[in-house]
Amino acid sequence: MPEAPVASRPGAGHAVVIGAGMAGMLAARVLAGHVERVTVIERDRLPDAVQPRRGVPQGWQVHALLARGLVGLERLFPGFGQDLQDAGAVPVRFPRDVLVLTRAGWVDRRAPGWPSLSASRPLIEATVRRRLLALPGITVLDGRQVTALGASDDGRVVRGVAVRGDDGAAFVDADLVVDASGRGSRTPTWLADLGGPVPDRTIIDARITYASRLYRIPDGFTADWTGLMLFGDRADNPRSGYLFPVEDGRWVVGLIGARGVHAATDEEGYTAFARSLRSPVLAEALAAAEPVSDVHLHRGTTDARWHYERLRRRPERLLVLGDAACAFDPVYGQGMSSAVLAAETLDACLRSRRSEGDLTGLAGRFQRRLARRLAEPWLFAVGEDLRFPGTTGGTAGPLRRTLHRYQDRLEVAATRDPVVTDVYIRALGMLERPTALLRPHLLLAAARSRPARGGHPPAPAPVATGARTVPA
Ligand SMILES: Cc1cc2nc3c(=O)[nH]c(=O)nc-3n(C[C@H](O)[C@H](O)[C@H](O)COP(=O)(O)OP(=O)(O)OC[C@H]3O[C@@H](n4cnc5c(N)ncnc54)[C@H](O)[C@@H]3O)c2cc1C
Repeated sequence: MPEAPVASRPGAGHAVVIGAGMAGMLAARVLAGHVERVTVIERDRLPDAVQPRRGVPQGWQVHALLARGLVGLERLFPGFGQDLQDAGAVPVRFPRDVLVLTRAGWVDRRAPGWPSLSASRPLIEATVRRRLLALPGITVLDGRQVTALGASDDGRVVRGVAVRGDDGAAFVDADLVVDASGRGSRTPTWLADLGGPVPDRTIIDARITYASRLYRIPDGFTADWTGLMLFGDRADNPRSGYLFPVEDGRWVVGLIGARGVHAATDEEGYTAFARSLRSPVLAEALAAAEPVSDVHLHRGTTDARWHYERLRRRPERLLVLGDAACAFDPVYGQGMSSAVLAAETLDACLRSRRSEGDLTGLAGRFQRRLARRLAEPWLFAVGEDLRFPGTTGGTAGPLRRTLHRYQDRLEVAATRDPVVTDVYIRALGMLERPTALLRPHLLLAAARSRPARGGHPPAPAPVATGARTVPA
């Protein structure tokens, strides 16, 4: 983790960022410290209200902000956590406040873990946007779609982007173009149009489906938890359920299926799915809660990575980051934190330029560094997804299977040893590298632990009884 704050002294030049999602806005924040002007071009009309929008359909879905993401946001926008809290985000400490049910049982809640803030994805995005727009040199052009890259005649240097909006088409010149347009990024097609090579792509698909819904928290609700993460056992019961408090006294509930199993969007089917989780605690909580939204289904959840770092020939002055470069199975909550890592990588690369105007070689250096930075979250998500039958796009080799067995043992140890739990939870929060899971104490604890044969019984919550509602 870099210690220095992001650069704050802008140099000359104009950068264009495609997409005002999390990755685009964080990249824009960093660029504002290095160039005179940053223009973020966004296809959607950005709402004044805090609400999901078309270009970010996952905005309806449950989102957890991991510790690493919050730490990074605070560094990019000092006071960000307070702003988010003032806007209604709920402080949550993992695992003290969150019941986490892994394959091995309930995670030991005595571990110190980490603090975070729980909020809807639109509120997190709106808070970032407000802070970004307060910076000098930032312009957001919304309601405009980037339709192509413009480049020098030989296609070697990107010079800007073609844009289409209600007011017609235009070309926006830029010294640097950053594509943060999400999973639907068209950069591979645009590179082909420029006559250059297109990167390889890896897709691992565990066929995860999210179905999220907002509920009003019942008046007088009390429990010894504020959030729930109930992981399915993807071999036997591939149903998971998350519940987190968000602004305005609501819960966001995500029911997550795998391998073609998914929650129905009607009342009865949704409730039935909640009841089929490995613990009844979530269904019990919902029984007294009033739904305040429809159920929204989401299927775009593959681990999908374009290997820009492997391109032997690429145009200068074009960078790709966020989901446009590397998107994760969202079950592990790594997307927004990885957008933070990408912004930090961009800052580091721009700082190490030989001189202010010299952008030669930046594109290749950035993509290689970003790929190295994201290798661990990628291996984590893919490693988990490859455990399960029916996942397409890869197979688990002998080393991976050994790691799976080791992790199974660690999860058992994490149900009763707060030292193990703490490292495990910190690794999930991206505060620790996965190699931390190989520390001597954890190796020993894993050696002493045996996963139960034939699956695990649906254990009750370890403290008190889970949901208890008190009628108003
Ligand atoms: C179901 C689900 C649950 C998730 N849960 C979590 C979680 O718990 N924790 C977490 O950290 N992450 C989670 N994520 C991931 C997270 O939402 C993203 O990884 C993260 O927000 C980074 O996205 P992005 O900014 O790269 O892309 P996006 O959010 O997709 O934003 C791309 C933006 O680009 C715009 N755009 C697209 N094309 C153009 C164009 N041609 N011209 C102009 N604008 C364009 C779009 O309108 C959009 O605003 C989840 C994702 C899904 C799908």
